[in-house]
Amino acid sequence: MNPNLEMKLKEELEELKNNNLNRTIDDLRFISSTKAIDKDGKEFLVFGTNNYLGLTHQPDVINASKKASTYGTGSTGSRLTTGASFEARELEENLSKFKSTESTLIFNTGYMANLGIIYTLTKEDDIIFSDQLNHASIIDGTRISKAKVRVYKHKDTKDLENLIQTEIKELKEKNINSSNFFIVTDGVFSMDGDIAPLPELVEIANKYNCCLIIDDAHATGVIGKTGKGTVEYYKDKTGIDLTESVDLQIGTLSKALASEGGFVCGKKTYIDYLINKSRPFIFSTALSPSTIASANAALNLLKKNSNEYLTKLQNNTKLMRNLLKEGGLNVIDGETPIIPIIIGPADLTNKFSKELEKEGILVSAIRPPSVPKGESRLRLTVIATHTKEEITFTAKTIIKIWNDLKKKLEYENH
Ligand SMILES: *Cc1c(COP(=O)(O)O)cnc(C)c1O
Repeated sequence: MNPNLEMKLKEELEELKNNNLNRTIDDLRFISSTKAIDKDGKEFLVFGTNNYLGLTHQPDVINASKKASTYGTGSTGSRLTTGASFEARELEENLSKFKSTESTLIFNTGYMANLGIIYTLTKEDDIIFSDQLNHASIIDGTRISKAKVRVYKHKDTKDLENLIQTEIKELKEKNINSSNFFIVTDGVFSMDGDIAPLPELVEIANKYNCCLIIDDAHATGVIGKTGKGTVEYYKDKTGIDLTESVDLQIGTLSKALASEGGFVCGKKTYIDYLINKSRPFIFSTALSPSTIASANAALNLLKKNSNEYLTKLQNNTKLMRNLLKEGGLNVIDGETPIIPIIIGPADLTNKFSKELEKEGILVSAIRPPSVPKGESRLRLTVIATHTKEEITFTAKTIIKIWNDLKKKLEYENH
């Protein structure tokens, strides 16, 4: 027993509360891809999921999950022991084809994928160059790695190149010549919704022999003509296919693919190495057959209907972005369905989100440490299955609440 520890933890929680930064869990049951109820049965319109194509409630996906659950509700072990279901191999082969890579490995979550890949591949004397706004799972992967980590300014390839040159000089002075360099970046950044400058990153990776790793968690099923992600997005734009220039493409099954789990696509040697050495892969029970089967069914639907899904997603994104901007909200410009509405102070952001909740709309309030201090925001996401009516109603409500809050603030500051 250590009563002092409990007291200290309590104090820390109190401080979070006083700064409007404490977090609580609100229970929610999704009755469709866009609607959910709380414990009292109150219905909400949800504008905050990562369920970009709305496939969590698609009948084919649900049926695939049901069918695979007849092979057992759990996987019973790690893939290296008893948990290597047929479904896992099938999905890996499907993903390799989809991403045009030699091989794929599934991890239990996208978070685990980033941990397991980054700290397994990077060794002492290696250097990881990581974008300032990378996802927490990438940051944590670099923190448990033995390699040196240099963080470059968000999407700033000049800064990246400067850091690389500085490190090269230092290694020369120390007479170290066995270092490998890694560049790690989100494809679509999870908080700002902007897209990594992949062509420039490839150029730098080639020039300095870096292993280039891109995390397409918010890009797979979301950008690129057929939803293949960042590589395809730039192929559409420039006509140049960068598949071969990216060493590893990480992704998740938990966003557009309507299930749970993470994956990595790349050369077979990398994948075989991870199977042999990556501890989060080796020492954790595999995903259940039904979890994997639902992701595979979602992937098959995406492959079949990509034009329909992506057109809907893009139209919904444009509509919401335009309505909010016309209404005077401070929206970070972009083309992805992640729409950050910058509010500023954490307490005001909380209040905004609570007011929306009263009107039956759920939008997440994102506060530090997820974003820098003073940049608290509503992080609104639209998905392909939102209707035009749902989008216009939500935009109108957001604009009205914003105007009311502004008036109140002006009055208070008068
Ligand atoms: C969501 C996300 C992850 C984590 O994926 P999970 O499957 O939810 O664990 C990793 N990287 C990025 C960029 C993400 O947005």
